Amino acid sequence: MKVVEHIKNAKKTLFSFELLPPLKGKGIQSIFDTIDPLMEFNPPFIDVTYHREDFIYKQRENGLLEKVAYRKRPGTVAICAAIMHRYKVDAVPHLICGGFTKEETENALIELDFLGIDNVLVLRGDARKADPNFIPTPGGHAYASELLKQVSDLNNGVYMHEEGEHATATNFCIGVAGYPEKHFEAPNMKTDMAYLKKKVELGAEFIVTQMFFDNQKYIDFVKLCRANGINVPIIPGLKAITGKKQLINLPKIFNIDIPSDLSEAVNQCKTDIDVKKVGVEWLINQSKGLIEAGAPVLHYYTMGNAEPTLQIAKAIF
Ligand code: FAD
Repeated sequence: MKVVEHIKNAKKTLFSFELLPPLKGKGIQSIFDTIDPLMEFNPPFIDVTYHREDFIYKQRENGLLEKVAYRKRPGTVAICAAIMHRYKVDAVPHLICGGFTKEETENALIELDFLGIDNVLVLRGDARKADPNFIPTPGGHAYASELLKQVSDLNNGVYMHEEGEHATATNFCIGVAGYPEKHFEAPNMKTDMAYLKKKVELGAEFIVTQMFFDNQKYIDFVKLCRANGINVPIIPGLKAITGKKQLINLPKIFNIDIPSDLSEAVNQCKTDIDVKKVGVEWLINQSKGLIEAGAPVLHYYTMGNAEPTLQIAKAIF
């Protein structure tokens, strides 16, 4: 079922979460171990992130370095199929521009359609670690909106290099990313908002936000979206702080702000267990506030660790 249908049918705020595929070489059981304890809270859908290839340098026998393309976390599509098969829950694969030509994207979408997947979260994708900025794949897309247009075309039965009337239209419900604290590359919120609006005009039916730790940022973002004529559901993306290092890493990686009350409370902790307690408590309060604010779904970034999300779900759902 489509994410927007789940939201429409819901009588209360829904619970969902996002998973990362395991590191290459680790089995799928680690995914099931993350999902199993969270199933009692009836997630209507589970997201699975997509990770493009990166480069590593390997030393050859002659001493020269060889650049090798390498994917650390393969398996997104298969994990989605496994989730649907095992738990009878909708899986939402993330689909990215980076690393795909348009042809490869089309083939991937056909496979997702044949698997019975009804939703995709369409993203540009992060830059490769070795690249200073996002570099589009030759023959691929530069922005999420271009990729979105390709999915919308398939939803209208328009395939690449095909003419005639035999094509079967897909029926994907398309989600996109939104940034309550602005995407780091956008010169200002107004520009970022204009591109977000473009994604909705091209067919995005729901928005999932970047993580934030101050609910006011989400509330203001929703207001701004509505004022700009963006009327699709806006799902807050949430993460619990679980280690002191995240006070530095999360702002650096995700370009988000951590409120001083939270950072001071974390800094005062003596042990990792105390940090986790503070992080989970903060997110429980955030979750309560977001339910009051009318968020349609609370979407938790598990990052491969179910425990904090489990504690929050127990307190909230
Ligand atoms: P876009 O919407 O393309 O925007 C990127 C930037 O370009 C923005 O600054 C925007 O303002 C600007 N822009 C947009 N359109 C245009 C245009 N036509 N001309 C000029 N500027 C434009 N990354 C992954 O690699 N895998 C994942 O699975 C993944 N999942 C994510 C899930 C969520 C909920 C979120 C919030 C992010 C996720 N990301 C993921 C990270 C995401 O790919 C990065 O944040 C990326 O830098 C931007 O992606 P986007 O889809 O928002 O890009």
